[in-house]
Amino acid sequence: MPKSNAVFNAEAKQVLSVKWKDGSTSEIPWTQLRAACPCAECANLHGDADPLRLKLAPNTHLVSVAYVGNYAVQPRWGDGHNAGLFTWNYLRELAGLLTAPQ
Ligand SMILES: [Zn+2]
Repeated sequence: MPKSNAVFNAEAKQVLSVKWKDGSTSEIPWTQLRAACPCAECANLHGDADPLRLKLAPNTHLVSVAYVGNYAVQPRWGDGHNAGLFTWNYLRELAGLLTAPQ
């Protein structure tokens, strides 16, 4: 078994494919991934501080994914946005493998 998790940007399906070190695979749609971006800038977009900003549709074309150490991945989107760090646990959450912390 591989020693670490790996990601693969499946362009044709528009999903981020995550190969877990236990051998299983999850697919997270680009749109879901973009909507879940945990960076401060996007957290503002998700919030209700300024309702007008909610109308901005974020770019959902996943250009590339970089590894950050061994704990997270950093997607880069078609609009150049790459401020979001997705930890492996967060990706598991998005893939429905963990329940979100309360
Ligand atoms: Zn973001």
